[in-house]
Amino acid sequence: MALRFFNTYSREIEEFEPRHPSARPIKMYTCGPTVYSRAHIGNFRAYIFEDVLQRHLELRGYKVHRVMNITDVEDKTIRGAREASVPLQKFTEQFKDAFFEDARTLRIKRADEYPVATDQHYIDRMIEMISALISKGLAYQADDKSVYFRINKFPDYGKLAHFDLTQLQSTGRVKHDEYDKEHVGDFALWKAWDEADGDVKWNSPWGPGRPGWHIECSAMSMTLLGDQIDIHCGGVDNIFPHHEAEIAQSEGVTGKKFVRYWLHCAHLLVDGQKMAKSLGNFYTVPDVLAKGYTGRELRYALLRVHYRVPLNFTWEGMNEARESLGRIDEWLARLREVAEKANTERPTPNAQRPGTAFEDALDDDLNISAALGFLFESIRETNRAIDQNEMDSASACAWLDWWKRINTVLDLEAETNVAIPHEVTQLAEERENARRQKNWKRSDELRERISALGWEVRDTRDGPKLTRGAGSA
Ligand SMILES: [Zn+2]
Repeated sequence: MALRFFNTYSREIEEFEPRHPSARPIKMYTCGPTVYSRAHIGNFRAYIFEDVLQRHLELRGYKVHRVMNITDVEDKTIRGAREASVPLQKFTEQFKDAFFEDARTLRIKRADEYPVATDQHYIDRMIEMISALISKGLAYQADDKSVYFRINKFPDYGKLAHFDLTQLQSTGRVKHDEYDKEHVGDFALWKAWDEADGDVKWNSPWGPGRPGWHIECSAMSMTLLGDQIDIHCGGVDNIFPHHEAEIAQSEGVTGKKFVRYWLHCAHLLVDGQKMAKSLGNFYTVPDVLAKGYTGRELRYALLRVHYRVPLNFTWEGMNEARESLGRIDEWLARLREVAEKANTERPTPNAQRPGTAFEDALDDDLNISAALGFLFESIRETNRAIDQNEMDSASACAWLDWWKRINTVLDLEAETNVAIPHEVTQLAEERENARRQKNWKRSDELRERISALGWEVRDTRDGPKLTRGAGSA
């Protein structure tokens, strides 16, 4: 079955055809965190969805070039830095670090690039784009010195959100407190400096100021991925106005279709309610870890529901995640045991072998619920076969290979089963050599270095064995 995704732009499931069907990578842009506070688990739900999407594309043989931006200048970061009385850079740095730490905890694959909006290179690009939009009549400088996008001059504005512009005035969706704009829906491309911005400002042809949030993404994505990209993702709350504005800006400048597939992840609720600090149901990754859960368990809890369905986060759900992972761990241990029995058994030619149902389900707009359903059904059936002594080692190996394959998408294996890094095996080999030469001092030194990398070497009758060191799980 061909890969198919729900495209927010058309509101339809579409067959996936990358712009370049050859070996050239798929260009994927994902809106990253605004680093004014620690990202919450709802943000990470979207990042995990994007992670699963990238990994599945890779499983299907595509190369992916993914960019995730870091928004380090907009109203909230400036306000935060001001309240903390520290320079903007210093204020955002801590949340950038926290974001990467949490992403590692959740086993989210690193993007190829993480551009930051305050990089002068991108600021220059933003200024270039705004100038181009002004010269095309698509933008104007208002009396307040800020530059706005003229949405009435861009007929496609509203198409992504399926939003009728004529309603914009009456819905009160945009507050009528910016008197200088021609249309209430015109959005800022360049915000003129005011006192509240402190020393956060860049020079521009329109005077000192800073970029609007939307132009940041257009400029960074076009600089790193070119005028046209294959996939653009984000949370549903990014659709309007952020992604709508990105289309207007990018297509306004180039006249070319900016994005082929828009994919958006639904909200995360906590106990059926919207997450809010005031409701006491607002959680970050460390909050969940502090309750005794692992990053692996949280990853599972956040990826197990289809990305277009709102996910209701509960502690009961975390316990279910723990149970499900326990079943996977136990199943893998049993399969490994059978796989190792190679010479002592009779073959069972009718033993069930894995098929492609898992991958096929993900081809269907990342239907993770169906894919996991198939995984657990397979676990039940293979366990039954093992119980009845109807699983030979070749079949067990086939199932283990299958797991290895689907786990490139899931990344849910327990730490103890994680592959030993090359550096560690190399050190262990060196240590074995040192021991053979009875160089005990060198051997101890190497043991220390292995331990510093989070691994432990035990000398057994069958030779040295490496395990994850205490406290490293
Ligand atoms: Zn963005």
